[in-house]
Amino acid sequence: MSRYWSAVVHGLTPYVPGEQPKLADLVKLNTNENPYSPSQRVIEAIRAGTGDALRLYPDPLATELRQAIAGFHGLDAAQVFVGNGSDEVLAHAFLALLKHDAPILFPDISYSFYPVYARLYGIDYQEIPLTQAFEIRVDDYFRANGGIIFPNPNAPTGRLLAFGEIERLLQANRDSVVVIDEAYIDFGGASAAPLIARHPQLLLVHTLSKSRALAGLRVGYALGHPDLIAGLVRVKDSFNSYPLDRLALAGGIAAMQDAAWFEATRKTIMASREGLAAGLQALGFEVLPSAANFVFARHPQVRGEALAARLRERSIIVRHFRLPERIADFLRITVGTQTQCAALLAALQEILAARTALG
Ligand SMILES: *Cc1c(COP(=O)(O)O)cnc(C)c1O
Repeated sequence: MSRYWSAVVHGLTPYVPGEQPKLADLVKLNTNENPYSPSQRVIEAIRAGTGDALRLYPDPLATELRQAIAGFHGLDAAQVFVGNGSDEVLAHAFLALLKHDAPILFPDISYSFYPVYARLYGIDYQEIPLTQAFEIRVDDYFRANGGIIFPNPNAPTGRLLAFGEIERLLQANRDSVVVIDEAYIDFGGASAAPLIARHPQLLLVHTLSKSRALAGLRVGYALGHPDLIAGLVRVKDSFNSYPLDRLALAGGIAAMQDAAWFEATRKTIMASREGLAAGLQALGFEVLPSAANFVFARHPQVRGEALAARLRERSIIVRHFRLPERIADFLRITVGTQTQCAALLAALQEILAARTALG
């Protein structure tokens, strides 16, 4: 607290990201990073970009990167907006497209950055409860709103909303923007990008942090009607004209172009996820069906907090959310390499066995 702070700063409740401990030999399964090295083509492109050209500002329009992204999705570059990580893209979407008189809607269990942005920009919001099975029920969103936002697959549940349900939502909600945060869509879902042509109120948000293994490069993007993109650009150019530096642009372009790396890596992670889910179930866990690079699981006998603490003693870090109460016994576990998944399962087996021995 400082008397030099503005009233706005006094009122903020910032997002708390998963920790990034400095310890070596950690099995780090807490922030949904990709466990594999990024594409070698990305590393080479970044290396090639480090030189005299760093004197110069990067392209403020990020034209080449937007073209590469458009090419990947079969869209036009005018339908693509890029930002410094998808968190920044989301922030601009809140200010540019979701700040109206009516409250915006998002699930009660969802990405916890949404309420942070809403409060930052003074946007009223309503949290819509997920069903008992932790699913989004589209009919619950058929009401007056200033906009709708949710991740698909949802985070931290991993549950996927079917394509047909998204279409039904868009048909019923034409007067405000629907933002779908597709941060995890490459791990088992189909992007709603084909719906952009028919739905000018649809904005999709993607990140290179998860499925392209580039969380450290900070590249995210949005897809939508050119008018939505133009709104985002107006906010961006009122904030920072150069959110992506030259190295991020070079790496981002190479990442979008390396289809072979992308396909191989995401398939490996999806296969590991199924193995991890089966292993957890064999230990007695309830595991929600996941279409993401993490699973959300709880044990019927052991509190989530205790499990997370016992794992940490064994240098394995997973994410645990104390609130809301409904998910307090769940652990969100990132799908790691086969070796990491095996280490996690072995540790859990030990922890559960020690508990049984104690009675
Ligand atoms: C990881 C994540 C993001 C943020 O990604 P960055 O591009 O690294 O900022 C956005 N939305 C959801 C749901 C995420 O899990």
